[in-house]
Amino acid sequence: MTLVLKDRFGRIHDYLRVSLTDKCNLKCIYCTPHQINARDKLDKSEILSFDELLRIIRVFTTRLGIKKVRFTGGEAMARKDIMKFFWTLAPLKEKTGFEFAITTNGTLLKENIEALKKCGLDRVNLSLDSLCPGVFKYITGSDKLQDVLGCISSLEEAGFENLKLNTVVIRDINHLETADFVDFFRYRDITLRFIEFMPFQNNGWTKEAFVSSEEVRRHIEKRFILEKIEDRHQIADLYRVKGYKVKVGFIRPISEHFCANCNRLRIKANGSMKLCLFDPEESEIDLKAALRNGSDDIELIRLISEAMKLKEKEHPDVGSLAQGNRNSMQNIGG
Ligand code: SAM
Repeated sequence: MTLVLKDRFGRIHDYLRVSLTDKCNLKCIYCTPHQINARDKLDKSEILSFDELLRIIRVFTTRLGIKKVRFTGGEAMARKDIMKFFWTLAPLKEKTGFEFAITTNGTLLKENIEALKKCGLDRVNLSLDSLCPGVFKYITGSDKLQDVLGCISSLEEAGFENLKLNTVVIRDINHLETADFVDFFRYRDITLRFIEFMPFQNNGWTKEAFVSSEEVRRHIEKRFILEKIEDRHQIADLYRVKGYKVKVGFIRPISEHFCANCNRLRIKANGSMKLCLFDPEESEIDLKAALRNGSDDIELIRLISEAMKLKEKEHPDVGSLAQGNRNSMQNIGG
């Protein structure tokens, strides 16, 4: 029998985000905590093994109504032997038909696109924060802009439709580039998603660096005509760009809660389940302990279903997030 994961506010959760590693080959300034050292990274024994991941995804997709699983990180493709895992996931994906998605920085994917397709990968979101090599380097600490652009083209050639590109907008770093993005991708079947910069542990967030989606939209509208697309299933406010193929979306977790439509659960690389991106670590649910102490599937299902009752209606306002947030995006995976 399949249950549904409904919380106290009637929200059904059918989307699971799974972080495969807390390690990343890029060091994006808005994501990587600024004062982190190697000891803060998880040891191999602390992260879920491929067998544990497979078991938990099987329980969620066959018993708990999860319809979409997105892999993230750190950088998912930076996990050692990750393709072995995706090959073992493939039969489960084929059997249950969940949507298999990945969010990646696009620097380590290119050689594996065909294999990933064979494993059943449906959707790819890529991070791209600047088209200018110097700014890209400043944000990510790397020279891999051309690799990312090459990866996007290869994904298009391999038949991946409606790729989504995520851009975190930061004032005086890339905020004036947003219309250039639209121009660069105007003839392509791509959705550009401009994300409001969120405060996390030591990630340099300040009120001054924050740019609202409203401001970004007005900036783009100086050069392009945006036409709203009604789609209540999307967390992004979506727009067509008149006369062009590219679409534009705005993700505004700060200026406007989209908690009312939240359908997401997250599992960190260490096996902790998060009910909300902004929940403190203390309220995470330790699925790894349950997996390792011999719990059977019924016990796992009970643990997860009980946890759903604790999900809050909405996350705190940005003022308190900016002060007390000890979460790091690199650990959670977005
Ligand atoms: N390495 C992958 C990547 O680069 O997309 C996946 C991990 S990354 C943590 C997942 C998403 O989180 C990315 O789309 C990134 O833009 C977003 N993100 C990270 N830190 C953020 C922040 N402070 N504010 C808003 N979005 C953020």
